[in-house]
Amino acid sequence: MSKQAMISIAAAGCLLIAPVLAYAESNAEKLQRIQTELQNKQQDVQQQEQTKQLLEQGISQLQQELDALGSSIAKNTQDLAAILKQKQQTETALEKQQEQAAKLQQQVDQRQKVINERLVTLQEQPHTNFIAEMLIDSRSLGDLLENLYSIRLIIDSDKKILEEQLQDQNALQQETLAITEKQLELQTYANNLQLKQQELESNKQKQAELLAAMHQQLSQTTEELASAQEAADILQAQKAAVQKEMAEEQLNTPSSSSSAAPSAQSGRFIKPAAGDYTSGFGPRWGRMHYGLDIAKPGYVSVCAAAGGTVIRAYHSATYGNVVFLSHRINGQTYTTVYAHLSSYNVATGQSVSQGQQIGVMGSTGDSTGQHLHFELHVGEWNLAKSNAVDPKPYLEP
Ligand SMILES: [Zn+2]
Repeated sequence: MSKQAMISIAAAGCLLIAPVLAYAESNAEKLQRIQTELQNKQQDVQQQEQTKQLLEQGISQLQQELDALGSSIAKNTQDLAAILKQKQQTETALEKQQEQAAKLQQQVDQRQKVINERLVTLQEQPHTNFIAEMLIDSRSLGDLLENLYSIRLIIDSDKKILEEQLQDQNALQQETLAITEKQLELQTYANNLQLKQQELESNKQKQAELLAAMHQQLSQTTEELASAQEAADILQAQKAAVQKEMAEEQLNTPSSSSSAAPSAQSGRFIKPAAGDYTSGFGPRWGRMHYGLDIAKPGYVSVCAAAGGTVIRAYHSATYGNVVFLSHRINGQTYTTVYAHLSSYNVATGQSVSQGQQIGVMGSTGDSTGQHLHFELHVGEWNLAKSNAVDPKPYLEP
């Protein structure tokens, strides 16, 4: 090889190497970036875990308070029932008392009648006449004394009747008053208990609402935690896969300088599955669709769009059975994602060649029908999917 040729190659190489050097330089940066992103993600995970723990503690405490409130309400309900029973008993006693009072009133009335009659008799018979008659009727002094004694008895008896009358009426009044007072007292007590019950019920409802809100927050945090954990796992696995790809690249193609810079037109990827394109890359249903959907009924094999390393093959809540592949093409890292697979037949860290079957089309995860959700990222995958591009121009026609 002449010196001239060497120079021209070197010159040509320089031109072409320049972007490669830029890539080579950015490779270390890329790893650093993945490392930083991973660390951030791991911090996120830790924070989410702390939040989750706090929420769980809060919920446990709130649940205890709610249980205590429930006990208070149960106790209060018992107290209220007891008071109402007591009130009922008092009312029954009052009814009996009123019956007795009516009977007593009858007796009083009866006595009043007797008293009235006695008074009429005494009025109708003036004392002089009465005594005179007594004297006339009395055949002897003994007889007279006896008659006078009888008069005395009659007067005493009237007095006694009057006294009894007064006593009975008094007792009746007092007893009725005492019962009425007790009734009033019980009514006040029952009212207070009912107010307390209302307050407790209202508290319970507020606490229950708070608990529900916290449960919802916990569920959201748990979801976010799972998502952050999943992202951290992908990033961790991606770091290993990218490192492996770069090492292989250095071994196999020490002078990748001859390759052209990557472009959408380079057609380095093949369509990963047979079928129709049912949904393209771009905004869909009010949010961004970061992939290309390919659908076909029946058994449809899903293949690696390019040779590379399996970042992760696992089951995700949203992606379903999913395979992430890392590719190094002309110094550029690419990441492809194959989601909603009915099954996958590759494992994390495994090398795959272009066109090699990695799984079977399905409808697992957040999917409504059998299709392949295919994503292409120029660079590494990240949670924000900021490197995602429309795969279509990259696929070989
Ligand atoms: Zn999709």
